[in-house]
Amino acid sequence: MKYCLFLILVNFEKRDIILIVGVLLFMIGLIPFMAPIYAVLIAIAIYFGIKFYVGHSQKSIKGIIGEGLCADCGSKINDKKCPNCDSAGI
Ligand SMILES: [Zn+2]
Repeated sequence: MKYCLFLILVNFEKRDIILIVGVLLFMIGLIPFMAPIYAVLIAIAIYFGIKFYVGHSQKSIKGIIGEGLCADCGSKINDKKCPNCDSAGI
């Protein structure tokens, strides 16, 4: 069990560990007010909610920046294609 937990911690980024610790503390804070199973479920829901939100916001930041610039003309790459060169090449 301890070994399992260690593996999980290694696989997570530092930011994830902080998130998990925060959610765990929140869960412990909820336990006096409700059945532990509900506190666990709420904590899991919050964890995945934050993960989803963070993933979504990272995706939109990436969308604003684009996937990079075209090596030929310097245009913003969309869907791994240059809007200028790839459309002209067809
Ligand atoms: Zn181009």
